[in-house]
Amino acid sequence: MEIKHARFLVSNTDVLKCPRPDKPEFAFIGRSNVGKSSLINMLTISKSLAKISEKPGKTRLINHFLINESWYLVDLPGYGYAKVPKSEREKWEHSFRTYILQRTNLRCLFVLIDIRHPALEPDLEFLRWTGEHQVPFAIVFTKSDKLKAEVVEPAVAEYQKVLSEIFEPLPPLFVTSSMHSTGRKEILDYIGKIASQKHK
Ligand code: GDP
Repeated sequence: MEIKHARFLVSNTDVLKCPRPDKPEFAFIGRSNVGKSSLINMLTISKSLAKISEKPGKTRLINHFLINESWYLVDLPGYGYAKVPKSEREKWEHSFRTYILQRTNLRCLFVLIDIRHPALEPDLEFLRWTGEHQVPFAIVFTKSDKLKAEVVEPAVAEYQKVLSEIFEPLPPLFVTSSMHSTGRKEILDYIGKIASQKHK
């Protein structure tokens, strides 16, 4: 699939105010600094699309983009922001978790993991939660260019071992580098495939 048009639609905290769930939706989430904005910009070949959701106040919101007039890309707030007061963090965690559970057109939640970091508890906790609630998800390893080529595969294999203790079967998995556009075609083809499938 190629991206021909991408435009920002709306930011929300409330799942009920999101655009009508009349198109397949694909959301991206990850710890702060994992490379989420870079990945969204790389996928949409935009230097600034995800910048919109980086504007003050918007990083904590559910940001909808319309792609090719046919599917929604959603930039979700990150989890694990140590610097934010707990009460505030809990408020926006509640908002994106409600979104994830209630959004009927969500076809896949892409959970971003920095490939350099071994299985971190906040990621595992979040992944267990998605599993418990049967949220369709895939794992996207980011910043693969930061590892030497020969250690990428062992790093992925190591993570798969950890995941296999939680998930059976293993979720789909993508290795990406926003710097080199690695994994772009794979993710977009996956989105194209899932979007064209009939939804239950
Ligand atoms: P976000 O907070 O998850 O949206 O993360 P950003 O996209 O802002 O990226 C955080 C930092 O990691 C920035 O300094 C980016 O330049 C860097 N970064 C993101 N993706 C990559 C990548 O694929 N390769 C490299 N080398 N750096 C990256």
